[in-house]
Formats: sequence, structure tokens, C-alpha cells
Amino acid sequence: MTRRVSIFGATGSIGCSTIDLIERDPEAFEVVALTGGRNVDLLARQAKALGAEVAVTAHEECLADLREALSGTGIEVAAGEAALTDAARRPADWVMSAIVGAAGLPPGLAALEQGATLALANKESLVTAGPLILGTARDHGATVLPVDSEHSAVFQALVGEDMAAVERVIITASGGAFRDWPIDKLASATLEEASSHPNWDMGQRITIDSASMFNKALELIETREFFGVRPDQIEVIVHPQSLIHALVGFNDGALMAHVGPPDMRHAIGYALNWPERKPLPVERLDLARIGQLEFRAPEDARYPALRLAREVMEAGGMAGAVFNAAKETALDGFIAHRLGFMDMAGVVEGVLTELSGDTGLMSAAFTLDNVRAADHMARIRAEEIISGAKTPKR
Ligand code: NDP
Ligand code: MG
Repeated sequence: MTRRVSIFGATGSIGCSTIDLIERDPEAFEVVALTGGRNVDLLARQAKALGAEVAVTAHEECLADLREALSGTGIEVAAGEAALTDAARRPADWVMSAIVGAAGLPPGLAALEQGATLALANKESLVTAGPLILGTARDHGATVLPVDSEHSAVFQALVGEDMAAVERVIITASGGAFRDWPIDKLASATLEEASSHPNWDMGQRITIDSASMFNKALELIETREFFGVRPDQIEVIVHPQSLIHALVGFNDGALMAHVGPPDMRHAIGYALNWPERKPLPVERLDLARIGQLEFRAPEDARYPALRLAREVMEAGGMAGAVFNAAKETALDGFIAHRLGFMDMAGVVEGVLTELSGDTGLMSAAFTLDNVRAADHMARIRAEEIISGAKTPKR
């Protein structure tokens, strides 16, 4: 039986890896919706190759180009935020959520509302609105599967296990581009230097977030939301080889580690084939050739984002949405050369400190509107701090 699949963020790094897997078994899938942003040429090529029902660009101004590229193919086209959510409402069995940033949340929720299995690469959905995502899944009998490599690893280590026996969850971090730099040099790190990852080939934003460990900070919160463990049960360890993705520690002292090549097609393929395992086109590791695996504790001074994530977990409520939005705005500031690399954490901390006093905002119920309001407020505050209109409070 063919499965109906949609891919949100098809033109990105995760989207392309997902398509690579689907194209290897074309008889098994019927492609419903493919979405992208500005890369309209690639989106049109993907939609034609896979015979998608509809192709959606996030940006209204890209619609004319998309329409022209797909004219005469019979493939529907649409643009804008509402069109993304409409596309997610089309019945599908399996939906990949791989838009980058908070924009991934509304289509993910819409996909869950129609009962789809949501393969969640968009970690921002859980960071900003974990209870909303998981509650929507529960209410509609839908399933959320992790795609982030660490969370897929934890998920796999937990198959057949009782959560009551779990003592701790350890997620690994490569340490990013600057793990071996002297800490006092980090302030002058350039965009180009921050945009290259030692082990993984990913989109630019997550690559920079890996260098600052804002990515791991988001993943700490993602771990808490996804697996329902307490913050003090989650550890981060720097593991430069990126071969162990996560470990789960049980109450009898056992640590179950997930070891695999740094290739996202493993985690994507696991979610695509779940609950079965099927062969995947990823490297088989030669442990004798690898020889050694290293581990070290992350240094607080190098990675202030990890401390901020712990404060966010402590605060709960809308703190995750505020944290993510401030981080996205600070990242935009770094990419636009308006902020130094180490200034990003200062901006995020400033926004968190300011908004933590707004109890109406921070303890609002988990609805899409409230999450968006917190996100919006955090972006305004972050922008004010970046543009120097306000000095971050410490
Ligand atoms: P990319 O930057 O490579 O791709 C992002 C995708 O989202 C593209 O299709 C892009 O379109 C689209 N997009 C960008 N902005 C918007 C918007 N405002 N509205 C709708 N669509 C938009 O990102 P990645 O593939 O690296 O990451 C995707 C998600 O997966 C992120 O949440 C990331 O944290 C997560 N993830 C990624 C991993 C990786 O290895 N890359 C690993 C684990 C998690 P276009 O390019 O056409 O403009
Ligand atoms: Mg990850």
C-alpha cells in the first residue's frame, strides 16, 4: 500500500535528505505537499520529480516564479503562511516537519490535527510549545516521532523499556566549529568561521547554533518535552566524533548508547520506517578504524546557552517561546553582522530577564495565539537590544 507523505521544508538540508530516501522507493509513496521558502527552482524540480499534488512557498513574492516553473504540470501552487497550514491539512499518513525556526509550528499542529504521524525535525516546535504539540497529538490520535539525531537515539534506546527505570538521558554535542578555540578568541569569530561544522552537513542556521551550542540548548528543552524527564536528569557531553548520539542511563547502572554515522538519513529513515527497521543507505561504521571515542564536559564560559536553557526549563510556561524567538533574532543579528558571536547569548539573556517579570505573558496557557504573542514580544525586545535602543539588563 502506498503511503501519502508531505514534506515541510523540502528544499532544506533535512528536506533533501528525506526526498533522497523517498526517491529510492517511489512505489511506496504518494507525495501530497512539498514546501519551501525562497529556493523556488529547487522546490519546482522536487515537485515535478515526485509528482506532488501541491507545492507551497512560504513567501507571497515567490509565488509568480513558482507558478511559472510548474505551469502545465497540473501541480497546484500556493504561497504564504496560511497556505502552508492549509497544505498541512491535506490528508497524509506521514508528514516531515523540517521548516527551520518557529514558522514550523503551525503546519506541524495542522498535520497532527488531521491525525498524521509527524516526523519532527523542527525542534523549535517542542521548545516553544511542547505541551501544545503533544496535547494536540494525543487529542487526535496522532503520533510524533523524533528526527533530531540525539532524540531519535534516545527514542531507539527506550524501545521496550519502562520510563520508570530511566535515571538519566545524556545527549552528545560535537562542540561545534569552535570547540578547540581559545575562549577569548570567540568574541571575534566570523560568520564564515561559525558556518562550517566539523562533522555534520546541515543548514546554515543550525550550524551556527551548533558553534554557540544554542542548538544543544534547544535540544535540552526538546529532551525534557519529548521524554518527560526532569531537567536534572538530562546531561550534555561533548563528544567530538559525533558517533554516539545519545545514551540512556537506567536504574541498574546500564547505559544504552546509540552509535551511528553522522548522517541524518539514519534518523529520518528510522522515523519513515517506524515501527519497523529497514535497510538505509548510510555508512556502516568500522570501529577498529575509528579507534577512539572521546568525551569531555562542556565549559560554561564557552557555551553560556546551556545555562540559559536550564533557566528556561526552570521557568517553564512561555519561557521556551521567548528563548527561541530571542535566539532567532540574535542569530539574524549575527548573520547580518550586527552582533558579535558571543553577543548572541547576551541578547537572549537580556530578553529572558526583561520578560520574566511579565507574569501574564510568561504563564499564559499553551495555545498557538499565546505562543505567538510570547514569540512576537521576545523578537521586539531582542531587536531593541540589538539596535542599542536598550542596554541588556544583567
Ligand atoms: P535549512 O535551512 O537547510 O532548511 C530550512 C527549510 O525551511 C528550507 O526548506 C527553507 O526554504 C524553509 N524555510 C525557511 N524559512 C522559512 C519560513 N519562514 N517559513 C517556511 N519555510 C521556511 O534547515 P535544516 O534542514 O538544517 O533544518 C530544518 C529543521 O530541522 C530545523 O528546525 C533544524 O533545527 C532541524 N534539524 C536539522 C538537522 C540537520 O542536520 N540539518 C539536524 C537536526 C534537526 P528555502 O531554503 O527554500 O528558503
Ligand atoms: Mg541534534
